[in-house]
Amino acid sequence: MTRVRTRIAPSPTGDPHVGTAYIALFNRCFAHQHGGEFVLRIEDTDQVRSTQRSEDDILASLRWLGLDWDEGPGVGGEFGPYRQSERSAIYAEHIDILLERGSAFHCFCTADRLNELRQQQMEAKQQSGYDGHCSHLKAEDVQARLDAGEEYVIRMKVPEEGFCQFNDLLRGDVSITWSQVDMQVLMKSDGLPTYHFANVIDDHLMEISHVIRGEEWINSVPKHVLLYQYFDWEPPVFCHMPLLRNPDKSKLSKRKNPTSINYYKAMGYLPEALLNYLGMMGWTMPEGEEVFSLAEMQAAFDIERVSLGGPVFDIVKLDWLNGKYLREQGDDAQFVARLLSWAQESGRLEPIVPLLRQRVEKLSDVAPLINYFFSGDVALSAHSFEHCKLDVLLSIKCLQFALWRLEGVSEWNRDAVELVLMALAKEMDVKVRDFLAPLFVAISGQAVSLSVIDSIAVIGLDLSRARLRHAIESLGGISKKQAKALEKEFAGLPIIGDATT
Ligand code: GLU
Repeated sequence: MTRVRTRIAPSPTGDPHVGTAYIALFNRCFAHQHGGEFVLRIEDTDQVRSTQRSEDDILASLRWLGLDWDEGPGVGGEFGPYRQSERSAIYAEHIDILLERGSAFHCFCTADRLNELRQQQMEAKQQSGYDGHCSHLKAEDVQARLDAGEEYVIRMKVPEEGFCQFNDLLRGDVSITWSQVDMQVLMKSDGLPTYHFANVIDDHLMEISHVIRGEEWINSVPKHVLLYQYFDWEPPVFCHMPLLRNPDKSKLSKRKNPTSINYYKAMGYLPEALLNYLGMMGWTMPEGEEVFSLAEMQAAFDIERVSLGGPVFDIVKLDWLNGKYLREQGDDAQFVARLLSWAQESGRLEPIVPLLRQRVEKLSDVAPLINYFFSGDVALSAHSFEHCKLDVLLSIKCLQFALWRLEGVSEWNRDAVELVLMALAKEMDVKVRDFLAPLFVAISGQAVSLSVIDSIAVIGLDLSRARLRHAIESLGGISKKQAKALEKEFAGLPIIGDATT
């Protein structure tokens, strides 16, 4: 058997997702069980959406969970660089090979033409996709248009007939007809590769033997298989893992469940308990044990026994497991050490000390003032909001809009939080004091607290999001219809100041 090498290839475009950790866990177990390597590659070809903060957060979260990597950013390795933005020359070299072989072509179609095409296809109820317009251009015409400086992308050729058959480790033979496969853009007009192209090149050059990833990628396999063929390369083994689901079986999404690893860390889940829980997604230990370590999982792991029924990421079950760890692992002294290091590492104490000192007369005054900094949800009922001047609907609107604005803050700090909230109150034409009142309650569970702006800044977006949502629910919630109307109204707010700070 060839050397086993697996990888996780996150795109740094948002919060570190529990789904990334879940896939990383299975890749790492599989590689290490076979004495191979687990690689981390950053897929940052989407320059607009990729951020350094997201990359840093993903790396830190994986490390926190104990999912360190053998090769990749911060570690090095002989197949680097491991960030796609640093591999442009490699992609340029490889696209030339495909162009030379006639497996890819320049496409000069304008956005207008492509829109029109999509419209026509929709009206005719046809599969949408590129119609091959530029694939038959003569070489000299292409050259002339290139010389004239016309903008272009490079697309891959796709067979017109037949189907692509490939094997998936968990699903066996899968076949997808070529007519369902689009002539994928491989290089964008800015000269950067698309996911499909960079992913295949890198998997090959990094000698990845097994591609283990979420099932949302299974329909992309024909494009990938075709690229391997065009290059005369051996494709890796494909294995598409079942997606994590909300308890209602829909795809796990942050609209319904917190999905950011930062949230679980902030809430005081233990990394080994969260990892253990992720190991129970689609996998059961041979004797059905529910509490197991990474090393135990790795020793017992058999990828072919991963079950395809959508695993449910259920916080109630996670709470049960985390509780078990807290109660049963380690002694009381270790519990105290964990508690204190969590409180300390959360970074929630130091920033509030200056506010706190102004308000206390003895140290025993501190705990009641700061308890909400160290809780998950705060206790709320509809009565909690009774003193607020705004009516229920307007309170809900303030809470929801505040959440959306906070989600847009890219550099999280006190000033940025203040800036977006103050601007929002103005845009909504609500007095600052009235606007902040429901936020006070949502965040602290109390009518008065330390400054709400400081509190939001300190507890961070993940906990703030959970509390704002909880407050909206306590006020009666938002129906789907209302949510649509609110989204529209939010989008139409006059922008005062820089809302995307
Ligand atoms: N960059 C892709 C992602 O964010 C990787 C998919 C794959 O593993 O091929 O999920």
